[in-house]
Amino acid sequence: MEVYREPRLLSAKVKKIKKQGKGVGFVPTMGYLHEGHLSLTRKAKKDTDYVVVSIFVNPIQFGAGEDLKKYPRDLRRDLSLCRNNGVDAVFVPASKTMYKPGFSTYVNVEGLTDGLCGASRPGHFKGVTTVVAKLLNIVNPDTAYFGQKDAQQAIVIKQMAADLDMPIKIKIMPIIREKDGLAMSSRNVYLSPLERKEALSLYRSLRTVKGLWKRGEKNTEKLARKMRDVILKEKHAEIDYVSIVDMKALKPIKRISGKALAAVAAKIGKTRLIDNIILG
Ligand code: AMP
Repeated sequence: MEVYREPRLLSAKVKKIKKQGKGVGFVPTMGYLHEGHLSLTRKAKKDTDYVVVSIFVNPIQFGAGEDLKKYPRDLRRDLSLCRNNGVDAVFVPASKTMYKPGFSTYVNVEGLTDGLCGASRPGHFKGVTTVVAKLLNIVNPDTAYFGQKDAQQAIVIKQMAADLDMPIKIKIMPIIREKDGLAMSSRNVYLSPLERKEALSLYRSLRTVKGLWKRGEKNTEKLARKMRDVILKEKHAEIDYVSIVDMKALKPIKRISGKALAAVAAKIGKTRLIDNIILG
């Protein structure tokens, strides 16, 4: 496994690999890897010949007062996980490499980024799409892999790739959960043992909604209220949003007819967590 810090060198390597007729898969991450990330690298390894993982805590997708500084980092452990999971190359750029003095070009997907996390984290998705566009340009993979855990991000990136004619397949993979149902996240380490228990309420609320929906409840106001009730039973929970939206435009819907996405963001203590479930 090789570790790259210079975009130029990684681009040259991938070019060489592709010349040999090999397929290249790419998994962008912010590191502090867990099974959620590794499910993506394993899928990439299954689909393609050469797997690149990037580890970069992207400063421009964090808002003021968010957790950029304390975001968990452990590069040694990440590299060893990559090595043991068939990753071929890891890209670990420095911030000053990605954002040189005078950097002034941003990628912004409109509309899809208005609601859900876009509403509570202004500028977040602009930071995400900008860095992912840069990474896709540097790596130039055949396929890039993203998790359904960040449902809005995945849809936004698909839109960006289509709008900008990027010749890259975007694959979205299922959410990997802890045994008790908590969606895996690098941020879960922030949780105290009590908060860790309370954090389960996010998935519990989604399962409750899925159960009610299966039994015929299609009214999203009622479903959302139920989700809120489940989460607000917890002492340290503060809801950012609970929303049922259509899968394409991510706009709130009154009644569920086709496929819908139930999504939640909540703070448990100081930790902001997200989760979602597909209805249909
Ligand atoms: P992050 O390091 O949190 O930016 O995540 C990097 C990629 O891993 C994104 O595409 C995430 O959606 C994906 N990911 C994170 N957690 C999970 C999970 N629990 N299950 C599946 N994919 C995940």
